[in-house]
Amino acid sequence: MTRDGAVAAVEALFDAGGSDAYFGERVTQLQHALQAAQCAQRAQADDELVLAALLHDVGHLLGSENIHAEIGVIDHDKSCVDWLQQHGFSPRVVALVSGHVDAKRYLVATNPDYYQRLSDASRQTLALQGGAMSDQEVAEFESNPHYRDLLRLRSWDEQAKDPEALTQDLWHYRALIARHAHR
Ligand code: FE
Repeated sequence: MTRDGAVAAVEALFDAGGSDAYFGERVTQLQHALQAAQCAQRAQADDELVLAALLHDVGHLLGSENIHAEIGVIDHDKSCVDWLQQHGFSPRVVALVSGHVDAKRYLVATNPDYYQRLSDASRQTLALQGGAMSDQEVAEFESNPHYRDLLRLRSWDEQAKDPEALTQDLWHYRALIARHAHR
């Protein structure tokens, strides 16, 4: 895959599905992605972490048979792994995207206040995503080399649901995607 291929593929995905609602929230898929990436940039995250924030929900845009009308692709965190690899995204970007639902399951298990702060839609999907982690899963997650980044990504994901937020457009990330996929 050429670097232009990765940029074009990301743009094509958002062109096709970016204006869809982000399930149960008052933002579109594109707004959600751009807000998450902007949160990452404002937090001075490195390039791979910004890309993971931008792309964390591409599994919804890729579609699947494992789809639910109101909450989208159930395993959207894992179903996009092949696509990300094929388009040249690094193992770290892949690990961050594919772990973003695990981070939610971890936080529900370890932070009593966290569940209360989740949006209604995010609470509904939790059960389908496996619910709170077990003690063993918690221990495994804490030994994940991407543990801290996954928790940061999760917080940006949750902040990226503001219908009034102003962001850069997808064009802003072209060079970043191209540079990364060409590394
Ligand atoms: Fe998300």
